Amino acid sequence: MAIREIITVPNPVLRRKAQKVTRFDDKLQTLIDDMVETMRQAPGVGLAAPQVGVLEQVIVVEYFEKEEDEEREDAENLPKRLYVVVNPEITRTSTETVTAPEGCLSIPGYMGEVERFQAITVKGQNRHGQPITLKLKDWTARIFQHEIDHLNGVLFTDRASKIWKPEAVVEDKV
Ligand code: ZN
Repeated sequence: MAIREIITVPNPVLRRKAQKVTRFDDKLQTLIDDMVETMRQAPGVGLAAPQVGVLEQVIVVEYFEKEEDEEREDAENLPKRLYVVVNPEITRTSTETVTAPEGCLSIPGYMGEVERFQAITVKGQNRHGQPITLKLKDWTARIFQHEIDHLNGVLFTDRASKIWKPEAVVEDKV
């Protein structure tokens, strides 16, 4: 495994559409392992392949199993769930939306207020090509929407109602 460089704006790769993955080969496995390591090292709660300069439809997300754990002081030691999704697609969205602050590893130093669906269903494949369906809500659903946007060349700043430069970035970066 290796840490890859996270590309940042205005790198034009971040604006291109990622290709569908058709070969679940060793190269893909290495990419996924590297993405997980890079996300953890950043640290971030999600990463899309275009953020490491690879235009393929792959995302990784790692977040608390119980979302409320994020608020706890001992959060570091509480269980997290790692998601690896290849060719993810949002197939259902809630009518309810939530507006909350977001950041991005590819746009360092900025935050924005972004409206997202409160809950979504994501279909895709696991790292071996088997089909998976995930029903996600709240912050995990937000992270997935942010990462899937990256696969379409969309950045949170395109959707944000308000963008600012916080003195200290405390929010999760994706
Ligand atoms: Zn991002």
